Amino acid sequence: MNVEKKLVIIGGGPAGHSAASAAARRGVHVTIIEREILGGAAHLLDCVPSKTMIATGGAMSFTNSLSGMGLENREAEVDVASLTARIESIKDHLSNDVHVLLASQGVTVINGTAKLESKNSVRVDAADGTSFLLEADDILISTGSRPRIPNFVQPDGDRILTTRDCYPPRVFPESVTIIGSGVTGVEFAHMFASFGSKVTLVVSRQQVLPGKDPEVAAVLEDSFLSRGVRLFKGARAVGIERTDLGVRVICDDGRVSETTHAVFAIGSMPNTENLGLEEVGVKTDGGYIPIDRHCQSNIENIYAAGDVSGKLPLSSVASMQGRKVAEQVAGGPKGPHRHLDYDKAASAIFTEPEIADVGLAEAEAFASGRKIRVTKVPFSSTAKALINNDSRGFVKIISDPATGEVLGGSIVGRHAAELISVIALAVTASLKVTDIEESLLVHPALAEALADAAE
Ligand SMILES: Cc1cc2nc3c(=O)[nH]c(=O)nc-3n(C[C@H](O)[C@H](O)[C@H](O)COP(=O)(O)OP(=O)(O)OC[C@H]3O[C@@H](n4cnc5c(N)ncnc54)[C@H](O)[C@@H]3O)c2cc1C
Repeated sequence: MNVEKKLVIIGGGPAGHSAASAAARRGVHVTIIEREILGGAAHLLDCVPSKTMIATGGAMSFTNSLSGMGLENREAEVDVASLTARIESIKDHLSNDVHVLLASQGVTVINGTAKLESKNSVRVDAADGTSFLLEADDILISTGSRPRIPNFVQPDGDRILTTRDCYPPRVFPESVTIIGSGVTGVEFAHMFASFGSKVTLVVSRQQVLPGKDPEVAAVLEDSFLSRGVRLFKGARAVGIERTDLGVRVICDDGRVSETTHAVFAIGSMPNTENLGLEEVGVKTDGGYIPIDRHCQSNIENIYAAGDVSGKLPLSSVASMQGRKVAEQVAGGPKGPHRHLDYDKAASAIFTEPEIADVGLAEAEAFASGRKIRVTKVPFSSTAKALINNDSRGFVKIISDPATGEVLGGSIVGRHAAELISVIALAVTASLKVTDIEESLLVHPALAEALADAAE
């Protein structure tokens, strides 16, 4: 037990609260300072509200296509007030769960804003107006990130929006231009299209989801086009003007998109200003805090985890980093453990169809000249896809032809985000395709396509 060790955590998002809980469990004395809500921007502003809206949009699309299930079609209409209440209640529920857990573990939670005063002390300006110093053996900076705004635009929260201005939804745009076609951009394009908005997506490259498997990106592009989403490929937004009816987004190739609203989804910036980093000597790079494999900054007892670390900006990664920090602060791993391997992080894109991938991608393997075996099975070959009245998509497994080791995979289709867990486990544990193939899976289930792809 490390009863005397004091860990102070700045920021209560997935990185901060996971570290707090895991460290308290190991006997560390933990204080966490959060200026908004426990659960962080992930629960309040980003991950959870966006997925809640997408789930409601998905339910609407499903209801509007019931005839395929042997039912009469119904036109679902969005009820903005109850959708808003739903987003609020999920956020409150999740944040309260974090409070209850941390309280039960004896973690001190302070509502306030914190910054480093020295390498062993943190200044807290509490929400109750008091200001005080906390001494710390170790400090974790997990202050997250915020949307990046290009310098040619000033979001007004009315027509020119960041992703965080989109909920709770006051009104659904009649038409919207989404600038940025990475994960967040395509999810917002999908979300607004589900609610009936006319969507234009400005895609700076030649495919949506730059860096993802081109075959996967092509399925999503086809789906967008079939739903009437306009794609401005190879175009960069360079200007935006307010008009009588909304906004005009001007692109560098001369194309113009006139819509009632515009949403910027072009990435994020770390929240590392006003944290006293420079004064204390914590190195930054482009605002992010470089870390080693234990999430330590250049100062041994100051850690960084989550979006501020500049690694993968995912809640799941932030939580895992937080747990690794706790382990390190409590004296290092006891027993078998794995170092964080960011190349093995599973990720999902909550569009229609859903997309998920993990590990080595086909294009990446070809580019590096590595020999791989690729097997692809369409969901249409499973009974469950027909029963679900949704045969779209496929499972692709990438393995080493010599050893059979599973190296990666991607899934497009219903429940992709859940199904990828099987491949993620195989990649993390260096399992072989035969391990998946020989698992006795459920029938009828979409997972049967996984076993077929592993054959
Ligand atoms: C639209 C959108 C959708 C997303 N969807 C997903 C998804 O589906 N799945 C997924 O895995 N990831 C998703 N992400 C990414 C995910 O939200 C982030 O990776 C995650 O929130 C990072 O967690 P964090 O702990 O680093 O920071 P955050 O969740 O940003 O929390 C940081 C906290 O620190 C607090 N803070 C900051 N400065 C101070 C200070 N000085 N003093 C006290 N408190 C402070 C903030 O108030 C905040 O609560 C999404 C992101 C966006 C933008």
